[in-house]
Amino acid sequence: MQGDIERVLFTQEQIAKRVKELAQDITRDHTPPNVPGEGDVTIVPILTGAFIFCADLIRHIPLQIRIGLMTVSSYPGSSLRTQGSQIIGQQIGDVRGHHLLLIDDILDSGGTLKLVVPALEKLGAASVKTCVLLRKDRPAAHEVVADYVGFEIPDEFVVGYGLDYNNYYRNLPDIVTLNPAAIERHA
Ligand code: 5GP
Ligand code: MG
Repeated sequence: MQGDIERVLFTQEQIAKRVKELAQDITRDHTPPNVPGEGDVTIVPILTGAFIFCADLIRHIPLQIRIGLMTVSSYPGSSLRTQGSQIIGQQIGDVRGHHLLLIDDILDSGGTLKLVVPALEKLGAASVKTCVLLRKDRPAAHEVVADYVGFEIPDEFVVGYGLDYNNYYRNLPDIVTLNPAAIERHA
């Protein structure tokens, strides 16, 4: 797997530091009196890509949180560009009146957030905020609101730290690009 890496964009140490900073920002913004009520927040990772990011992030958020799950498919199989986002599963429960924080791995075309934010608002959430670990440097990614952004990256296909290529590489601890031979082999 190591031989498949073309370039390391962020090491696990860099990611860990940034995730902690994001958690501190989120904690501050969700601590009363910055939010109404008791500061309850329901965190909704978008599966599968955001599972590692979310697991690391929430352990630095010392608030009363609940978890909902949402599964969205946008890069089925070996696609390197979005094929359009589709909600393919959810375990959200009753979130009427809850403050939700959606967590995604990467903001690319914006299709996923444009689909999921209104879907959660429709369930009666009091507010829906968004947090992405990565945002690609392309105009479409700046047309949707991301309240918290970990890193800006060039418009390249990346894997690792939960992000996959054809469901491989999610367990790489760093965020990397793949060399063409690896892409061909796993296509
Ligand atoms: P969007 O809907 O904003 O185009 O893309 C968001 C989803 O597409 C992400 O949740 C992620 O699953 C997938 N995605 C977008 N860019 C990349 C990428 O560079 N690498 C990987 N592995 N997935 C990506
Ligand atoms: Mg995703």
